[in-house]
Amino acid sequence: MGKHQVLAAFVGLQWGDEGKGKLVEEEVFTAIEETGKRTWVGRYQGGANAGHTSFVRDKIGNLVKFDTHAAPSGLTTGAEIFIGPQVAFDAVRFLEELNKARTLFGYSGGIHISERTGVLFDYHKRLDGWQEDTGEKKVGTTRQGMGPFYMDNANRRTRFTFADYVSDRFPDRLKEILEAKRLEIGAAKIWTPTYLDELVALHDPIRKELKGCECRLEYRLREALNNGENIILEGAQGTLLDEDMGTLPDVTPSHLLAPHAFPSLGLPREKFMIIGVEKFYPTRVGSGYMPTLAEDDFGAETQKNAGEVGVTTGRKRRVGYPDWVIIKYAVMINDVDEIIITRIDNVQDREIKVCTAYDINCQIVGEVPLKLETAKPVYSDARYKWHLWDGPADLSDPLKVDKALASKRKEYVEKGFKGLPEGLREYLRSHDDYVGVPTGAISIGPARGELVAKGFKPERMGYRICLHEDDFEEKSD
Ligand code: GDP
Repeated sequence: MGKHQVLAAFVGLQWGDEGKGKLVEEEVFTAIEETGKRTWVGRYQGGANAGHTSFVRDKIGNLVKFDTHAAPSGLTTGAEIFIGPQVAFDAVRFLEELNKARTLFGYSGGIHISERTGVLFDYHKRLDGWQEDTGEKKVGTTRQGMGPFYMDNANRRTRFTFADYVSDRFPDRLKEILEAKRLEIGAAKIWTPTYLDELVALHDPIRKELKGCECRLEYRLREALNNGENIILEGAQGTLLDEDMGTLPDVTPSHLLAPHAFPSLGLPREKFMIIGVEKFYPTRVGSGYMPTLAEDDFGAETQKNAGEVGVTTGRKRRVGYPDWVIIKYAVMINDVDEIIITRIDNVQDREIKVCTAYDINCQIVGEVPLKLETAKPVYSDARYKWHLWDGPADLSDPLKVDKALASKRKEYVEKGFKGLPEGLREYLRSHDDYVGVPTGAISIGPARGELVAKGFKPERMGYRICLHEDDFEEKSD
């Protein structure tokens, strides 16, 4: 195995919660183990409206749960952490997560925050909540301040950079901004005579801790790239929530697509593998139409058995049948090189149907329209079914089922795609034929080391799952 360089960007192909955090965490961990090189992992957009859960084994081998919202998933490893300029940086939550990781995992890597990154404050979150409570129509935001933040970030009067945050200008700049926003924060009843002082008092100790983390990130990452170090980019949410290319109007106000990451980080796209993360069954939380919504017992049982509840909001996620029209669209606009399908363990012994076209006003098309609600799903005639293991159907608490399925999962991981049930292999073959890019691995559990790899050879770079020459199989498999 060569001392290759791992350069990968992960992006969700649906509406979020696909399992990016888990895959990124594992990828960072493995990149460090296998290459022994300095490894960087960072967020390139969004804010603490995203939630990533890692189930990581502690020193005695028990699985423990660790959530991050503001920080990238690599805090459980020895990686260098970075925050790109398009992120809505919630310093309060970031520091909480960092300190927790220091306590739980002895985290001691370097922290690199672009001096251009915008800082999100309490008033952004409260304005978000106020708009949601008083607006004519609830849009179902996470109330983490994304809408108000990105509006301020685009406005030179109200943009608050991380460079300002850690400098002595902090109280003066904050005062200036609160003045520029006084009408709005007055109407929302956020403003009080002591509000500025309270914000300054809250942030002073955090600023002190983070002082020195500000940097010209684009130069540091380029140096890392040139030095042969590993760089892993972690996307948040999913393609269909992108502010331009998502399912309008129910989108988030940031650019989620992986190719957007590269110019903002000063990195060349062509050197990176873009990995699309697809949840086997799509889920959607909050409002918004999902063409393949499963209103039958498949939907209800999968929701329950898989514990489909949002990490950030605690809301139930609606479950649908696989929708390959959406996957093909997301693959195209993200320029995805390879797919990893997650949550395969949550469904078995069921006839699975797959949406391969939409009926839009009696026309059958394979494209995602602007108004998704006009699209009725058209399912192909094929039905897929497989059996993975005899075991608990209720997998909603990973900590409980871990012991029951650990050895079975290990067996599948060791055998690779060749060891999968034929029904599932057939599903994956049809999937890749339809979508047009290969599935490189499937995930069959919530923890590290539960990826079953196809094992094909990399064309452009050494991505971990592509490394094992022995597992090499022809693309046609
Ligand atoms: P993200 O929002 O896309 O980053 O999603 P997360 O990585 O936070 O994953 C959402 C949840 O799904 C977490 O609790 C993960 O542990 C869990 N998860 C991810 N992949 C799998 C999988 O293949 N099987 C199971 N059972 N759980 C998974």
